[in-house]
Amino acid sequence: MIRLAFFDMDGTLCAPRFYVNGKMVGGMSDEAWHAFCEKNGEDTYRFCKPVPSVTEYARKLRECGAKVYVLSTSQTKYECDAKNKFVRQNYPAGFFTEVLTVEHDADKLPVIREIAEKEGVRPEECELIEDTYATVLAAIVAGIRGTHVSMIYCDAE
Ligand SMILES: [Mg+2]
Repeated sequence: MIRLAFFDMDGTLCAPRFYVNGKMVGGMSDEAWHAFCEKNGEDTYRFCKPVPSVTEYARKLRECGAKVYVLSTSQTKYECDAKNKFVRQNYPAGFFTEVLTVEHDADKLPVIREIAEKEGVRPEECELIEDTYATVLAAIVAGIRGTHVSMIYCDAE
């Protein structure tokens, strides 16, 4: 049984859409991204959309008693604030236990392990939902359930 689930944000919970120089784009270089976040602040994710299949997956995990977290890599305060705003605007209050941000993808597993230990939860009762294969594989190697976003389906409405 999964007791703690951690959802990546960019490309997992959130479909990226950013308005740059008159065009909607799905991503940009790291350098351009930092400048974009600084310029747009909390509104950086204004045009991004939640991914329905992933939201549904999180809802089901909650129904089964799991705590669900957002666990995202963010390198600046602008980006952290923007991610918090996206979650506030797209999910009911309290849906996610917490929005956690780490500086590097490699910091995600230590954060999961730390929370699991605090909560008295075994690694195999934790799940990481991600779109970055390397991070999914690292979770699996650590004994955590690693779910790539492409493994999640929902029935079309
Ligand atoms: Mg991602």
